[in-house]
Amino acid sequence: MDTMSSPVKRSKFLVYTVEECNSCHLKTKRAFQIGDYIYKDGGECTKCKGKMKIAMIYSEKAE
Ligand SMILES: [Zn+2]
Repeated sequence: MDTMSSPVKRSKFLVYTVEECNSCHLKTKRAFQIGDYIYKDGGECTKCKGKMKIAMIYSEKAE
């Protein structure tokens, strides 16, 4: 994870992980955690108790 150890200039990046349910396609966004990657098994769906998978990881600039 080079992005975590590289020197930060003026602005920081916040990294988010989006998990999507396999059954009902509910999407939940949370803070990125080390070890996250696309298609990794996520948690339990809060809506249908189905299995969630990581669908997307993205970063936003934080001032
Ligand atoms: Zn679901």
